[in-house]
Amino acid sequence: MVIVSACCIERVNGNEAQEYIVCLLCGFDHCLDRCQSFVRNSSACLQKTDPVTNLLHEPAVALTFDDGPNFRYTPQVLDILYEQQVPATFFLVGQKLSRNGPLIKEMVSSGHEIGSHTFSHTDLTTLNIQQIQQEIHKTEKELKKILPNYTLQYLRPPYGRYNENLEQATDLDLVLWTVDSWDWGNPDADKIYNTVMCAIKGGDTIVFHDDNPETVKALKRIIAELKARDFQFVTVSQMYELEQDHPMQ
Ligand SMILES: [Zn+2]
Repeated sequence: MVIVSACCIERVNGNEAQEYIVCLLCGFDHCLDRCQSFVRNSSACLQKTDPVTNLLHEPAVALTFDDGPNFRYTPQVLDILYEQQVPATFFLVGQKLSRNGPLIKEMVSSGHEIGSHTFSHTDLTTLNIQQIQQEIHKTEKELKKILPNYTLQYLRPPYGRYNENLEQATDLDLVLWTVDSWDWGNPDADKIYNTVMCAIKGGDTIVFHDDNPETVKALKRIIAELKARDFQFVTVSQMYELEQDHPMQ
C-alpha cells in the first residue's frame, strides 16, 4: 500500500537544494532520494506517526551522546551545546568517570542530563543478573564520588541490547533511541548530517557518540537545521514528560 503523498517540496540546505516528500499519513517529510522506499512501507510509516509531534506546536527532539566522557571531544560538544543553548543527555561509561570529574560537573551545571552506559561498556545480554548489577552499581558509585547528590535514573544498554535479566536486575529506566546517527561507523560529518536529517521527526531521540571528531563537526549544522525546522530540544526526562502529557491515542 502506497501511503505517500505526491506533495514534493524543495528546501535549501546551505547551497544544495534537496527534494523532500511528505507522507500524508504521518505528516513527516523525508529526503526523497534516501527515504522514499522507507516511507512507502506502510508499517514503517505507521510507526513514525508520533503523538508528540502531532500535538505540539513545535516538534521535540532529544540529543543523546554515548560512550563519553572523552577528554578531547566532549568539551567541544559542550561548547556547541552552550553556544546554541540546547540541552542534551549524556550516557556515560563508568570507567571513564574518575578522570573526567570536572567535565561531568560541567554537564550537569549546564542543564544537561546524565545516564549510565554501564561501567565497562559490556553487552549486558552476555552477563547474569549479578554481573549486570555490578556494572550498574560500580557506575553509580563512581558518579557519587563526583556528584554526591545526583541520582541516576536512566540506563542505555551498550549496543542497545537488553533482555529479561537486565529488566530484572535494575530499576533504572532503559533508554534506547529512535534515530541512529551512525556516527560509530566511521562516516564523515556530511554523512552524519544527512543520516540524521533524513530520518528526523518530532518525538525522536537521536544517538550520537561524543568521542568522535566527525560528530563534533556535524553537530552545529544539525542543530542549526533542526532549529530552522522549528524543533525544540529536550532532555530524555523532558521527552518522557511530553509523551505522558500526550499519550498515544
Ligand atoms: Zn556505547
